[in-house]
Amino acid sequence: MTAQDLPAWLPLSVLVWIVQMVAYHGIGLWFEWLDRTGGLADYKTRPVDSWTYRQVLPRVLLNQVLILLPAMVLVEKAGLAFVGPAHIGPAMFVIGLIGMTIGHDLVQYVSHAWILHRPTLMRTLGHSVHHSTTASRSISACFMSPADFLMEIAAPYLLPLIAITAIGSAGSDLAFHFFAVTAGAFGGLYEHSGYDFSVKLAKSDNPLARFLAGRISSKAHAEHHSRGNVSFSDGFGSSNICDTVFKTRWDLVKPRERQRRAGQEA
Ligand SMILES: [Zn+2]
Ligand SMILES: [Zn+2]
Repeated sequence: MTAQDLPAWLPLSVLVWIVQMVAYHGIGLWFEWLDRTGGLADYKTRPVDSWTYRQVLPRVLLNQVLILLPAMVLVEKAGLAFVGPAHIGPAMFVIGLIGMTIGHDLVQYVSHAWILHRPTLMRTLGHSVHHSTTASRSISACFMSPADFLMEIAAPYLLPLIAITAIGSAGSDLAFHFFAVTAGAFGGLYEHSGYDFSVKLAKSDNPLARFLAGRISSKAHAEHHSRGNVSFSDGFGSSNICDTVFKTRWDLVKPRERQRRAGQEA
């Protein structure tokens, strides 16, 4: 099946949104099931959030239905994304994914670190709503004020998508779109789940295993929720370029403080 086979009443953007919803809520329910049954308890590194699944769900759905869906449809109607070739080659597939990862990091970092966390805007734009959660109930990934959701979820997804579409990637390739939204949903849900699948690998003597542990750890965003002033990039699945360049990565901030304190003591 290609995008050309879709019936007129089902624009590609709507189909991609539906796939995104199935992925988000399917994976979210899986993490919720783990929380309730104690499955994979060895990997649960933080106590579960006091916000319950039922309390979090309505705001998440409102954001996804009233902001994400119209934004995606609008972008398609404007001819900016979800349009173009039905199949992109492997090279464009890879270029597109790299572009999405880097672009997502840039847009999300500017929104999150420079705008939403500004002391004067924290409450005005409502980023404090998301920070009332502790990144230990996966579905809370999209528990946000409308402005926050627009700037941290919708824009970092759609702006890079528009850019890569302009250079001939993404197009209306179903495989590309389905993969991008499913991977994105998993990343957000995992880093808000309170599970860290790297804990056993991190203890290994094998340097390769420890390197891999660093790649799959969910610690960065947990540190953001507990400390507030570190790791503004989406930790898992993100290139984390901005956090590294601006030295806001959680493991870079600590030594900086220690150095300063050591300097004061001297
Ligand atoms: Zn934040
Ligand atoms: Zn968060």
